[in-house]
Amino acid sequence: MAITAPLLWLDGRLVDSSSATIPMMAHAPQRGSLVFDVGSFHPVKGGVALFRAREHVARFLRSAKIVGLALAYDEAALVQAAVEVTLACERDEGLIRWSVYFTASEPDLVPREASTHVAVAAQLLQDPPRTKPLRIATFDDARKAAPEALSPEAKVAAAYLGPMLARRRAVAAGADDVVLLDDQGFIAESPISNVFAVKEGVLCTPPLGRVLPGITRDAVLALALAEGMAVRESALTREAFVSADEAFLSGTSLPIAAIGTIDGRDLASAPGPVTARLTARLLAAQRGEAPAFPEWLTRVATEG
Ligand code: PMP
Repeated sequence: MAITAPLLWLDGRLVDSSSATIPMMAHAPQRGSLVFDVGSFHPVKGGVALFRAREHVARFLRSAKIVGLALAYDEAALVQAAVEVTLACERDEGLIRWSVYFTASEPDLVPREASTHVAVAAQLLQDPPRTKPLRIATFDDARKAAPEALSPEAKVAAAYLGPMLARRRAVAAGADDVVLLDDQGFIAESPISNVFAVKEGVLCTPPLGRVLPGITRDAVLALALAEGMAVRESALTREAFVSADEAFLSGTSLPIAAIGTIDGRDLASAPGPVTARLTARLLAAQRGEAPAFPEWLTRVATEG
């Protein structure tokens, strides 16, 4: 669970979070056209840093372009907005949520009024991260939309409805989360995370094109390559996933969650050695302890 910090950045100013509201008849709630992205900030030696903020903002701008939302702010301004809300929340760990949505109160299918609001909020984590391995369910009829129906690159509210229903179904069936198939029946991703499997020492993940280009996914691949691991981005069948030696989810809010069970079958180890090693490397990178990727951090505060 995460709560929004008291101040958020709205169209260039820090305002009280409760004053950032959306009209009930607006396109965002009525059609789900709000575009968003979620990044994170972490304690680093002598201060706080955003993790891969430029990549999150670049993806946010790509999502907005796909949905046809025009922003009055460029990448540098949106990273700076995240720095401001992180400083204002006076915490050293949490999430940053960038949102853009149509301003007008018009629920028509295609909005006539093009103006948008942009909000950037810090979300503070209340619960400790989950440490128990996940029980995952898959269903042949719980699938992502085909890329021709909705680009998997668009982080838009409407894209989360099907995955929400699928997760609810998985939870009702006694699992913790669902892994959705793509429209061709291969393993795709979870509602808010990417999927990895380890098979015979090779780290496998579904290729881009049918999944969100996760920034944690990219970081995991980069860290695995830096460790000299064999890595494969290619279509993953459900059978190969279920019989993996190790498996995990990756996503900003996790950032790596070991999978213990898939469709009732227990995996050999959870977290397995590869999962544990990559988790340690990723947490170190987020805290500026891995010298290999200093460009991933945007420092927001320095002590003293
Ligand atoms: N897939 C989907 C559909 C998501 O919503 C997310 C969360 N943004 C991810 C994967 C993981 O992406 P990231 O590592 O950038 O958080």
